[in-house]
Amino acid sequence: MAKKQFKSESKRLLDLMINSIYTHKEIFLREIISNASDAIDKLCFISLTDDKVGMDRSDFKITINADKDNRTITITDNGIGMDKDDLENNLGTIASSGSYKFKQDMEEKQDDIDIIGQFGVGFYSAFMVAKKITVNTKKYGCETGYCWESSGADGYTIKEIEKDAPGTEIILELKDNTEEENYDEFLEQYRIQGLVKKYSDYIRYPIMMDMKRSRVKEETKDSENPEYEEYTETEILNSMVPIWQRPKKDVEQEEYDKFYQEKFMSMDKPLKTIVTSVEGVVTYKALLFIPSAAPYDYYTKEYKKGLQLYSSGVLIMDCCEELLPEHFRFVRGIVDTADLSLNISREMLQHDRHLLTIAQNIEKKIKNELTSMLANDRENYEKFFTAFGRQLKYGVVSDYGMHKDELLDLLMFYSSTEKKLVTLSEYVDRMKEEQKFIYFATGENAAAIDTLPQTELLRSKGFEILYCTEDVDEFTLQSLMQYKEKKFCSATNDDLGIENEQKDEEEKDSSGLLTFVKETLGDKVSEVTASKKLVSHPVCLTAKGGISFEMEKYFNSVQPDSGMKAQRVLELNLSHHAVKTMEELIQTDIEKAKKYAEVLYCQALLIAGLPLENPSEYTDLICSII
Ligand code: ADP
Ligand code: MG
Repeated sequence: MAKKQFKSESKRLLDLMINSIYTHKEIFLREIISNASDAIDKLCFISLTDDKVGMDRSDFKITINADKDNRTITITDNGIGMDKDDLENNLGTIASSGSYKFKQDMEEKQDDIDIIGQFGVGFYSAFMVAKKITVNTKKYGCETGYCWESSGADGYTIKEIEKDAPGTEIILELKDNTEEENYDEFLEQYRIQGLVKKYSDYIRYPIMMDMKRSRVKEETKDSENPEYEEYTETEILNSMVPIWQRPKKDVEQEEYDKFYQEKFMSMDKPLKTIVTSVEGVVTYKALLFIPSAAPYDYYTKEYKKGLQLYSSGVLIMDCCEELLPEHFRFVRGIVDTADLSLNISREMLQHDRHLLTIAQNIEKKIKNELTSMLANDRENYEKFFTAFGRQLKYGVVSDYGMHKDELLDLLMFYSSTEKKLVTLSEYVDRMKEEQKFIYFATGENAAAIDTLPQTELLRSKGFEILYCTEDVDEFTLQSLMQYKEKKFCSATNDDLGIENEQKDEEEKDSSGLLTFVKETLGDKVSEVTASKKLVSHPVCLTAKGGISFEMEKYFNSVQPDSGMKAQRVLELNLSHHAVKTMEELIQTDIEKAKKYAEVLYCQALLIAGLPLENPSEYTDLICSII
């Protein structure tokens, strides 16, 4: 029998396919099973209106058989089948023009691609594992069956065969094992079972396989040395109906929890389960979860954001990044849409209009769910925020603040007056009439901020202060700049926007003292002022200009030679006895007064959490006074 040649373009593509496009050989099974499912769909559709088909929906099935002796895998379906023309057209032509360019692009990019374009090439992926493919098929309504055979790029043959029922049987004769590749693994029942679970779990028709099991022989059951025997049982490998296709009202939360735990290998239950179904310009179903805790690797590179992407129940991508914005990267879940073809590359997906629309919808959906959780389920929201609040704050800061409007009402900060997390909107609603700014203070933890001298005046006025205890907090507020037209102001800022006339008077009277301290300290401080903030503490440091102490600390920790330094303003509490004593000493013992100025400056540094320039000098200084 004359061998027919694949068209030359096709030949090249086949070569490319087999050798370079797929990185995961295992997807061949998914492709063959998906084709079988399509074929059944077609016949099933005909059977709805044509009694002659003589089959019920429940009669349709796909069978897998692995034969270790002959090293073959056979996938059988009782779908529509193919006639000679179908075989010529569908299996004889791999791809049309344009595919060669595709190959060139591919080689340039050397990209990691599991899924290839809509080229009608899924079938040929089987050549990655098979040295020979035999297709025995008979089309519904035809008399004759056909056998199509090919050993790859050199062409194929078609001959007539006897076949009883319509449908298709695809026999893959596995390649010989090599040093790098062990094709025998695909003959193992657990491997096949695993692949079906992974890629084809939601194929609508049962995927059956005879599974070898072992059990204790009945007659040796009670003996001390029970004997085992092998037996075979036909099992359905796939679960068929995906949980996200079932109406929400029919699914118990426990089922969702179990699905989440199994799918995302998580111990905890999701904090929130979001089920959504959209029909319109794009049609999709999504099942999303907000975890109750951050996975241990969440803030590392190991963690991959993304949703699982299905096309009509068939997994096409394990982790589709494009479906989630960075600030919601903690969300887990799946999206299933019929609007995407099974064979679509990562590159193409990125530009896919449907996918972009789905991603936008999903972002909105998550935002709305979080907003409503904040309004109606505060306890859970706080739990969420404790786990992922940092991510939202990064979201505000990143991309030049592009997402800040979307995220700002989801933010929370610990409040000095409420002693719990509060939102910006709650803060602003509570602001005192004479209060100009939204105040915040930065420190290691709440306890440390509680005792910051700079906050004394704010506290005495009863102004609420937001605590910034994470390194991203202050950047977040800086990047927001204002909320509902109220500007943010750091407690360590030299101007808190509070009038204090008595202090202004004091300052005038004490210009001598201030000049003395400034001259003593020299370049260490840029200014010495009479404090309007301090009540019980003698001194504090405040920052002038754009850089705060926290920023200085942060930048110096990530880049020690950054030279980033906040302008230091030393504020003196003129009513404090230590300051008064120093003032008196200027007249009586100027050397001692200088020492006092140094000590007070060092104290201010310590309280601000900044390093002493010379710790041993400081202790000597103290000792010399004692
Ligand atoms: P695609 O599925 O994207 O069309 P494939 O290369 O996977 O591309 O398959 C090519 C074509 O071969 C299918 O569109 C279908 O017409 C035909 N085909 C493949 N497998 C079967 C099958 N089991 N039964 C009937 N037709 C099949
Ligand atoms: Mg296909």
